Amino acid sequence: MGTQAQKIVKYDLEKLINELNKALADEWLATYQYWVGAKVVRGPFSSIIVKELEEHSKEEYEHAEMLTERIIQLGGTPILDPQDWYKFTTCGYIKPKNFNQIEILKDNIKGERCAIGVYNNLLEEIKGKDHTTFHILRKILKEEIEHEEDLQTILENIQIK
Ligand code: FE
Ligand code: FE
Ligand code: MG
Repeated sequence: MGTQAQKIVKYDLEKLINELNKALADEWLATYQYWVGAKVVRGPFSSIIVKELEEHSKEEYEHAEMLTERIIQLGGTPILDPQDWYKFTTCGYIKPKNFNQIEILKDNIKGERCAIGVYNNLLEEIKGKDHTTFHILRKILKEEIEHEEDLQTILENIQIK
């Protein structure tokens, strides 16, 4: 916790910490979604896809780390019970029903599109009110945009006949 760090935030602290915890729930679910997707995905391009999904899983985990550090810095407590991930999440978790490479990619693209919306909205909300959180969220948003693009590019390449 940082006293001055909290003082300079021109936004309701409790509300901000809650928003960061909601994003944290999304990041944990995204981490697992990518992680398990990499295990079960099937198809002729699965080796390329596994590599990409594993990389994204690690990056989602890093996002969870960044959010948690900021929550603690602001005097908050990160979600302590995984059961609360479902209560806090905006983007949810898409349980893989079909392990086909195309379906797995589509599930993850859906998740990324949701994440891009979440971070974009939150950035609009805190613009000019908390520079440090803004900087962290902007870095995360940039990576979510890259995630969507990476998956979409693979999907498009697979679908070229
Ligand atoms: Fe993320
Ligand atoms: Fe992502
Ligand atoms: Mg990537």
